[in-house]
Amino acid sequence: MAFELACEDLGMADCDFVAKGQTMDELMASGAAHGKSAHGMTDAQMQDPKLGEAVKAAVRQVA
Ligand SMILES: [Zn+2]
Repeated sequence: MAFELACEDLGMADCDFVAKGQTMDELMASGAAHGKSAHGMTDAQMQDPKLGEAVKAAVRQVA
C-alpha cells in the first residue's frame, strides 16, 4: 500500500508534481517539502484547515 497526491488536484493546474509515500506521514512530508520549494508556501499556509481538507480529498491509495 502506498499513497499519492497530485499537486494539480490541489488547484496547481500547471504543476505536474506527484507526491508519493509509503505512509501518510511520508506523503505529507514530501508534499510539504514540494509546496515550500516549488510554490513558496509558508508553514502557516500548510496548516490551513482548508488545505488539509483538500489534501484529504485528493490523496489516492495505490497498490
Ligand atoms: Zn506543485
